[in-house]
Amino acid sequence: MSESSSHQTVGILKASNDPRVCMLPKEVNRLVEQLKMKVLVEPGLAETLQINDSEYSEAGATLTDRETILKTANLVISINHEFNGEATNHDIRFIGIFNPLYYKSKLAIYQEHKVSLYSLDFLPRTTLAQSMDVLSSMASLSGYRAVIRAANLYNGIFPMFTTAAGTLTPAKILVLGAGVAGLQAIATARRLGAVVEAFDVRAAAGEEVRSLGATFIEVEGATDMESAGGYAVEQTEDYKERQKELIHQHIQSADIVISTANIPGRKAPLLIETRSVDGMKAGSVIVDLAAEQGGNCELSKNNETINYKGVAIIGNSNLAGEIPAAASRLLSNNFFSFLKYFSTNFAKEDDPLLSGSRIIEKGAWANPRFTES
Ligand code: NAD
Repeated sequence: MSESSSHQTVGILKASNDPRVCMLPKEVNRLVEQLKMKVLVEPGLAETLQINDSEYSEAGATLTDRETILKTANLVISINHEFNGEATNHDIRFIGIFNPLYYKSKLAIYQEHKVSLYSLDFLPRTTLAQSMDVLSSMASLSGYRAVIRAANLYNGIFPMFTTAAGTLTPAKILVLGAGVAGLQAIATARRLGAVVEAFDVRAAAGEEVRSLGATFIEVEGATDMESAGGYAVEQTEDYKERQKELIHQHIQSADIVISTANIPGRKAPLLIETRSVDGMKAGSVIVDLAAEQGGNCELSKNNETINYKGVAIIGNSNLAGEIPAAASRLLSNNFFSFLKYFSTNFAKEDDPLLSGSRIIEKGAWANPRFTES
């Protein structure tokens, strides 16, 4: 590879069916001014945020159609565009958020057309990659939004109210999975005055949960593997049975359950059984942030809100998409940081961030996580 950053042409495509925008005018201007990159923008890129094309022109970008972008740019960014095998620059690299372990079959078209693909959700969760970590950005917004959505549907209130007409007890919220989204949900629910309990298979999450003023529910004997890079791993059948029973009991007394439990590349663990929902009071709410990966709740339907015996069940893994201005602000910085890093490190053979996020290299599957999964 022989490019320097001044020879990189970045193309920015609109996302399909997603109101979020991967780069805002401010960061486009930084690409142009600081990194001396040429930037091509598809018209209407940020119309979902009421940002006019003229703001991108003023930031130094050229507005041009998708066909020209694909033929000209060597780095094409978007959140998740549709690629239909159109003619491209021979050295094109698509950069986005593709959930490759779950949607591998959708990526075959990039492989067939011998182009390269990088997915930012595959970056290693290391300090060096923190500024590019789209998973953390989106998970923390989703965790926050899950609480706001639940508060809207719940038929009670979150804080304790002591009034002349009597006392209202605070809502009891159970958070399943205390990773980035779960911790943000706990913090938001606590700020609103709810009583919060949380559960995670990673014992390390206990301290973080307690530091936010919530109670950590413990099940003895979890497999907590260091080698999984901080992520959860599949648990033994015995553990799963004991966990199921304990979670079942806690769900019965919860007014709201927010579930965020995921294992990368696998179906989400089933934590909320129908018999548990049967025991919840009418007017309660479940928000299942793992819905896209099969759901933590047996009853949840991805991208739908259903009513089961008076319990509202929201199945949505992309609640950050409901606050697109905030999501785009964070994503814009994440994508800028990645492009900046790419422009100075692309020639390094085994760079951990670039090889970690590289999924397809000129038509060849290039990531060991596919062979290991
Ligand atoms: P995730 O979205 O993959 O999973 C969410 C949570 O679900 C995790 O905490 C996981 O342990 C939990 N979970 C999985 N199976 C479960 C089960 N059966 N029951 C209950 N809980 C279950 O994870 P995430 O939120 O993206 O973060 C995972 C880890 O990565 C955390 O340790 C986090 O602190 C770490 N992290 C590190 C960095 C960094 O160093 N830059 C950045 C972000 C996250």
